[in-house]
Amino acid sequence: MDFYVAPLAKLIEQFEKLPGIGHKTARRLAFHILDSSEDEAKEFADAIISAKSLVKYCKVCQNITDTDVCSVCEDDRRDRSIICVMESPKDVISLEKTREYNGLYHVLHGAISPMDDIGPEDIKIAELLSRLGDNTIKEVIMATNPNIEGEATAMYISRLIKPMGIKVTRIAHGVPVGGDLEYADEVTLSKAIEGRREI
Ligand SMILES: [Zn+2]
Repeated sequence: MDFYVAPLAKLIEQFEKLPGIGHKTARRLAFHILDSSEDEAKEFADAIISAKSLVKYCKVCQNITDTDVCSVCEDDRRDRSIICVMESPKDVISLEKTREYNGLYHVLHGAISPMDDIGPEDIKIAELLSRLGDNTIKEVIMATNPNIEGEATAMYISRLIKPMGIKVTRIAHGVPVGGDLEYADEVTLSKAIEGRREI
């Protein structure tokens, strides 16, 4: 880093922290910022700060939103008897893109993983259970990732929900095992939902 003046070195360092960005790319991006106008650079910095401060979790489903309750939870045309449980907001976007699903969502923000010291209380399970008390929910689809953590999370939650008399289903294994729903193509994902089975 000695080759760079300190403010530039600092910028490169920040880019390098981003996923998938190596030193070379970080350097290219940093020089791109230096070459851009003051306004452009400010717009970029502002976008980072406002995304971080304005995006929050929906009070109901925990998906990301910039309002108290997200647009899916607010939408009266959605089927309010079914909740699709997913690990991340990125999964919700993938499923929304298919336009095949018309129910509600619940985002856990992670999966149970003893290896990483992530227990049930570290993800949004309590928030899910609190939505199930009033008899409007007839089915909960466990659409956590098809890997060890996702399966364990699906089983754990289904054990809590089934005694409440709610049908719990698991998405079909159309998505390759160990895969990440975020990368599943839309056709595969809607097939996985379509082929769900009661657990
Ligand atoms: Zn919501």
